[in-house]
Amino acid sequence: MNRLAPSRDRLRIAIQKSGRLGTPARELLERLGLRFQESRDRLFCHGEVEPIDLLLVRDDDIPGLIAEGVCDLGIVGRNVLSEFRAENGRDPATAPAEWQPLGFGGCRLSLAVPEGLNYATPLDLAGRRIATSYPALLAEWLRSQAVAADVVTLSGSVEIAPRLGQADLICDLVSTGGTLVANQLREVEVILRSEAVLAAPGTPLPGLRGELAGQLRGRLAAAIGQRNSRLLMLNARRSQLSELLPLLPEGEPPSVMALDGDADGVAIKALCRGTVSWQQMERMKAAGASQLLVLPLEQMLP
Ligand code: ATP
Ligand code: ZN
Repeated sequence: MNRLAPSRDRLRIAIQKSGRLGTPARELLERLGLRFQESRDRLFCHGEVEPIDLLLVRDDDIPGLIAEGVCDLGIVGRNVLSEFRAENGRDPATAPAEWQPLGFGGCRLSLAVPEGLNYATPLDLAGRRIATSYPALLAEWLRSQAVAADVVTLSGSVEIAPRLGQADLICDLVSTGGTLVANQLREVEVILRSEAVLAAPGTPLPGLRGELAGQLRGRLAAAIGQRNSRLLMLNARRSQLSELLPLLPEGEPPSVMALDGDADGVAIKALCRGTVSWQQMERMKAAGASQLLVLPLEQMLP
């Protein structure tokens, strides 16, 4: 059987093979309890816990693979997905769409101008040449601003285009801004705010793949909401509760459970937002807590 032919009963997710999104995408899926066995060609990862496999590809290929049905879902930057939709159309029945923002890979698609080029409003772009790897998104933005400029499409090294005389300014991805500073460019306009997203086909997936995709989406949303949460567990005497409970870190209301065979003893379980500091633990201990445990969350269904 061709492993790459759309399979009927296993969900296939495309992620970036390397680059900025590959490792965090895989780690996010593994945080949900999924485990993968890499094939020797490093193209395919077989899911060992659930019937969910990975295809490792260039990020630019992910929207097309979803549109063609080669993959069921993808983890890709909104910038890449939006460019694909701007270029190929947004027909809700066929175009891959954003299902869930994933909270990593944050960046923005921005216009940046070299020193010496005055920029006050988009109208200053009239007749200028703008180098970008996102020609469809840039053309849409220019239309929305009712300004006519020349879009120069480059596949890489956009930031050096002004110095090479290929363009007057650029439209490129920025995160810290370090690359812009190094190339004496000034960010003047944000065209798109981006992060990694879960992308899905326009038409719902059939059967078991549809069910798995829905479950995955829900678990991803929950994992992102609880990304920094910890489970705190401790034991205490019932008489100490009034002093101890106000010391618990911020989070969901705690559960207090009786301990078998210890009439005055209780076990406390609390879901905390953020980390639990050493000082908070020392204060709880001083107020009578024992057996303090702080555990990372792997999975949770509310
Ligand atoms: P590939 O070989 O898969 O085509 P690439 O070179 O196109 O890799 P990366 O540089 O790894 O891609 O970027 C992947 C994604 O990371 C981008 O599409 C974007 O969503 C996100 N990203 C976050 N910060 C930045 C940044 N400062 N520059 C570029 N991309 C960024
Ligand atoms: Zn790429």
